[in-house]
Amino acid sequence: MRDNDAYAQRLVEFACELACTVRDDGPAAAAALLATLTPEDRATLPIVMAAMIPVELPPAVLLAWHTGTPTNRQGLQPCGTHAAYNRHKDRGEEPCDACVIGEQIYHRQRYMTTRRAA
Ligand SMILES: [Zn+2]
Repeated sequence: MRDNDAYAQRLVEFACELACTVRDDGPAAAAALLATLTPEDRATLPIVMAAMIPVELPPAVLLAWHTGTPTNRQGLQPCGTHAAYNRHKDRGEEPCDACVIGEQIYHRQRYMTTRRAA
């Protein structure tokens, strides 16, 4: 592994720890964790984290854990997925915003996949 790879790997691991900290312990705990980094690491971390964001997902889906959108509580697929969209429909509910957007993405990806295969 090159030095740059080891450096990036270390920042990826830190990014995952930071993501768990902000979710589990809140922004103050995340800020305290960030304070342990060198200035160089703090400047590089946002670039590493940006590379890890699934840009095909809308912010509503990415922030569903924070915005109170129903999420995975019993091993069920979380809102924003095709399974969760169908779960809303099976229960006679209107799908939530994350599921409506997730379903649109699901159908777009299915369409692109079948178009490529043809
Ligand atoms: Zn939903």
